[in-house]
Amino acid sequence: MNIKMVDLKGQYDKIKEEVNAGMQTVIDTSSFINGTKVKEFTENLSNYLGGINVVSCANGTDALQIALMALDLKPDDEVIVPVHTYVATAEVIALLRLKPVFVDVYPDLFTIDTSQIESKISSKTKAIVPVHLYGQCAEMEEILRIADRYNLFVIEDTAQAIGAKYAFTDGTVCMAGTMGTIGTTSFFPSKNLGCFGDGGAMFINDDELAKKCHMIANHGQSIKYHHDIIGCNSRLDSIQASVLDVKLKYLDDYNLARNEAAKTYDLLLKDVAGITTPKLSSVSTHVFHQYTILLNGGINRSDMQEFLKTKGVPTMIYYPIPLHKQKAYKIDELECSFPVADKLAEQVLSLPIHTELTKQEQEYIVLMIKEFLNK
Ligand SMILES: *Cc1c(COP(=O)(O)O)cnc(C)c1O
Repeated sequence: MNIKMVDLKGQYDKIKEEVNAGMQTVIDTSSFINGTKVKEFTENLSNYLGGINVVSCANGTDALQIALMALDLKPDDEVIVPVHTYVATAEVIALLRLKPVFVDVYPDLFTIDTSQIESKISSKTKAIVPVHLYGQCAEMEEILRIADRYNLFVIEDTAQAIGAKYAFTDGTVCMAGTMGTIGTTSFFPSKNLGCFGDGGAMFINDDELAKKCHMIANHGQSIKYHHDIIGCNSRLDSIQASVLDVKLKYLDDYNLARNEAAKTYDLLLKDVAGITTPKLSSVSTHVFHQYTILLNGGINRSDMQEFLKTKGVPTMIYYPIPLHKQKAYKIDELECSFPVADKLAEQVLSLPIHTELTKQEQEYIVLMIKEFLNK
């Protein structure tokens, strides 16, 4: 069995003709930069998300950076982020000379622990960046309530959760990335909506702010050679947009397939001692960018990974070192402690999950997990 963490080739084979035709159109018209495909795709994505402004850019990290640049924050302003996330979330904050302020996460949902946010708010706090980690939304209702009370911006890092839906207590349902001041996403190949290289986008309700984000991504200009603000060069190229435009049509099917695979794992792993399967949020759907299990302290994770590898089963650790322990972002041990993030860094394990995963593969994966545990 040739099990993959992500099977991009298998997914491509099923939509090959459409994807190739889209790319060929871009090549035939030489409209590589800012071509009609970019416009078509961003419009279609906007419709998918309920009509919000979509501004494309070069990758998900740039999307976060441009979002922050658009908010006119001052050096040393503070931005609250979960400590258990991909580095990009904190990186762009530090890059802009702002201060990332870490908050621990829930031990079961893995998203920012909203009960700990207020204690981290100071007079310098300007924004919160919740991350919809592994594919389900952070507790947005509470985050928006806190943001409202303290007058903070909210940037939703939706790189792992495009297509997820969040339900407010009043019954309103919103797409992930459309609830805050700005939502950001990544089209990195392995993301749920991925292209064949790098890509990213921002989702913005406010028309003026959307214009500003668009300007920043295009050298701070809205009229060519008129640079009103400092920007950068961050574009989604037309070939990537053509791939994304095809894949967008299948995004709900892809997310459904991931959910089916997750259900299968849930069942197969239900009675396996020492393993905790992912907890589902009561307010968000899950799009299973990752299927991340927790191993109890008695299980040697690296031995298990090694064993599974020899059996042809790849696994990944997202993320092995929490941000507060990274050299670049280290903070005084006395200042803060993040017991949940520390524990997760030692106990999480992500199993293969993708749109092409078969039940037989999953049965084999779990069989091998059990074989290791019974050794
Ligand atoms: C992938 C990812 C990013 C960065 O996206 P890139 O396109 O690789 O720059 C940011 N945040 C999270 C949570 C991600 O998973």
